[in-house]
Amino acid sequence: MIQIENVRADFPVLERELRPGKRLIYLDSAASSQKPLSVINAMDEFYRMNYANIHRGVHQLAEESTEMYESARAKVARFIGAKKNRQVIFTRNTTESINLVANSWGRKFLKAGDLVLLTQMEHHSNIVPWQILKQKIGIEIDFVKITPDGRLDMADLKIKLAREPKLVSFTHMSNVLGTINPVKEIIRLAHSSGAVTLVDGAQSVPHFPVNVENLDVDFLAFSSHKMLGPTGIGVLYGKLEILNQMDPFLGGGDMIKEVRFDGFSANELPHKFEAGTPAIAEAIGFGAAVGYLEEVGLGTIVEHENELLTYALLGMSEFKDLKILNPNVDNKGGVIAFYSDKIHPHDIAQLLDREGIAIRAGHHCAQPLHTVFNVHATARVSFYLYNNREEIDQFIHSLHSAINFFK
Ligand code: PMP
Repeated sequence: MIQIENVRADFPVLERELRPGKRLIYLDSAASSQKPLSVINAMDEFYRMNYANIHRGVHQLAEESTEMYESARAKVARFIGAKKNRQVIFTRNTTESINLVANSWGRKFLKAGDLVLLTQMEHHSNIVPWQILKQKIGIEIDFVKITPDGRLDMADLKIKLAREPKLVSFTHMSNVLGTINPVKEIIRLAHSSGAVTLVDGAQSVPHFPVNVENLDVDFLAFSSHKMLGPTGIGVLYGKLEILNQMDPFLGGGDMIKEVRFDGFSANELPHKFEAGTPAIAEAIGFGAAVGYLEEVGLGTIVEHENELLTYALLGMSEFKDLKILNPNVDNKGGVIAFYSDKIHPHDIAQLLDREGIAIRAGHHCAQPLHTVFNVHATARVSFYLYNNREEIDQFIHSLHSAINFFK
C-alpha cells in the first residue's frame, strides 16, 4: 500500500520551481494528470529492454512485448470490473473511443430520424461525433437540461426518454461542474426505454471506483492520461454482444483475419478495433498507472479529493464577487469552475501562473454548457491525489492578490 501522505514524492515534477522560490502547484489534473515514477520507469525499462512490435513476431522480444501489452489490457479490464479482457479496446483517448462508437455502432444501427440523447453538460467529444453523424445520416440529437445549480434535471431526462432514443450518451462526471451523475439510475431508465448507453468516464474512472458490470453500461470511454498514465492511449469498453455485432472502425494491419484481393474478414475482439501498430509502450505505462492507483486505493483517493474540495469551496466562499458553477459539495468531484464579472478568467490564470500555480481558463471543451450559464469562459481548478491543503491555501492567497490587483 502507498500512503496518501507519501504520494507527492513519487511525482518528480512536483519538485520543480517554476520561478525562484515558487514551487509548482498543479491544479489542472482535469485536463491531464502528472505521472509517477513507476509509470515513467515502466516505459523507460520497456524501451530499453523489451521493445519490439507485438502480435506478429515469433522472436523473444516480440513475445515479451506482446505479453506485456496484453497484461496491461488485463489490468485495465480488472480495474473496471470487465468480465473479459477482450472487452477492453485500446484507442487513442476518450475522444477516439466515442468516435469509434459513433462510426461503427452508429452508422450500422442508426438511421435518419433516430434520436441520440445527450446532456447539456457534455464535453465536445461527446457532442461533435454525433453532430457529424447528424450531418451524414440525419439522426436527431437532444440534450437533457441541467438545473441552475449544475445537476442533471432528472425530470427532463424522463420526459426525453419517452421519445425512445436509440442511444443515451452522457458523462459520468462533468469536467466543468464537477457534477457526478447518478449513472446507475440513468442507465436503468435508459435501458427500460430501449436505449443503448454510453458513459463518458474521462473524469470518473481516474477518481473513483467504476464497475461496468455493476452499472450495466453498454459502452464506457476513458483516457489513460487523466489517470496517471501516458498520453496516446485510452479505452473503449463494450458489452461483448454489441461489440461483436459492430463492424471495424479503421482498416489495416492486425484488425484482419485474412485479406484477399476481393475483400477481407475481420479479426476477433479486441483486435478487430485495433488497426495498425498500437501505442505499445503507452499501454505498459497505462498498466503501471492502474497499478499505482490500486496501491493507493480509490477509496482513499475519493476521501482525499472530497476533503480538498470541501476545504477549497470554503476558502473560495470568502470571495463575494466570484460565482462558482455547481457550488455544492455532495456528488461533486474535485473540480471547481468559477468566474467574476470583473476579471477575465485568462487574467486570473495568468496572474496565478506568475506564482507557479497552474490552473485552466477557457471553455474547457464545453462551450454549449457555458452558454447555459451565460458565460463565455471560466477559470477552473482541479485536484488529484497529489494535491494538499497547503497548495489550496496558496491558491486562495494568490487569488486574493489577483483580485486586488484588478480592483
Ligand atoms: N470527456 C470529458 C468529460 C473530459 O473531461 C475530456 C477531457 N477534457 C474528454 C472527454 C476528452 O478526453 P480526451 O481529450 O483524452 O479524448
